[in-house]
Amino acid sequence: MLLCACASIPLPPAGGVRPPPKAAREVEVCAVVGGEDHRRRWLGVAELSFSEWVTTTISIVVRHPSGVLVIDPAFGRALPVDLRAAPLWSKPILGDLSSKRPIGDLLREVGIAPAEVKFAALSHAHWDHATGLADLPLSVAWLSRTEAEWWPTLEGQFVHGVMPAHLRRAASRLTPFDFDGPPVLGFAASHDFFGDGSVVAVPLPGHTPGSTGYLLAGQGGKRWLYIGDTTWTFRGVEKPAHKNPLLGATVDLDPEQLGVTIGLLHALLLEHPEVQIVPGHDLQDFMPRCEKVFASGPAAAP
Ligand SMILES: [Zn+2]
Repeated sequence: MLLCACASIPLPPAGGVRPPPKAAREVEVCAVVGGEDHRRRWLGVAELSFSEWVTTTISIVVRHPSGVLVIDPAFGRALPVDLRAAPLWSKPILGDLSSKRPIGDLLREVGIAPAEVKFAALSHAHWDHATGLADLPLSVAWLSRTEAEWWPTLEGQFVHGVMPAHLRRAASRLTPFDFDGPPVLGFAASHDFFGDGSVVAVPLPGHTPGSTGYLLAGQGGKRWLYIGDTTWTFRGVEKPAHKNPLLGATVDLDPEQLGVTIGLLHALLLEHPEVQIVPGHDLQDFMPRCEKVFASGPAAAP
């Protein structure tokens, strides 16, 4: 039986979500897809549904005048080693090598050399969101201070979804940030990376302690909120519901806290549907793919 026996989703009082803040700058935003599999929806969300779930693993590319930012550089060139090292229980989640591609190749195909990437940012420290950091050697790598203090407590090759060795290799570039800005949408605090409202982080704790969402200001007033793995599917926000309880139990550290966060996202969807919520593993057509946004040809190898 796959109906949810996990923590419930408490909903905040109606009317508590602020409209998205005005952004002084709008930027080009798009997604590259590092992995794609076809599954049934019930694997991703606590709902007995046999609808198709096209399971994506995405990285988001933001062209800001200060430099290119990549949010969640998913897979690195060490991908075959990463997958061999993963334990058996994780195979249904991770999929196989044939459906995954390194971030460097994806960027070059849309005209961006990996060495051009000045900034990287993580929604959380899990391997399928962070192991491409090594392939962006000149980037500052932002992550929330809570996440930055959590992952070094983990020991082993693959633990709680994290491959600590990958993060240790990028340790000199990891740059923790604090949620030092005002409340945004329904979230208690925020952090504006460039001071212009184009890329604003909000706390989404529960999946991991320091999980982070990124509110992005696209051209023409478009707004996206990228939510990493807070839910694996858009349906999880829409219903609202946790992940499949068997699989979610292996990766969600604090289900009760996560339920509160999912409730805030559900309220956002109801009250401000103009903010497009984008789960890291359910891209659909929520955000344009970079090959359709960047007309330039492939970049030269760095
Ligand atoms: Zn993930």
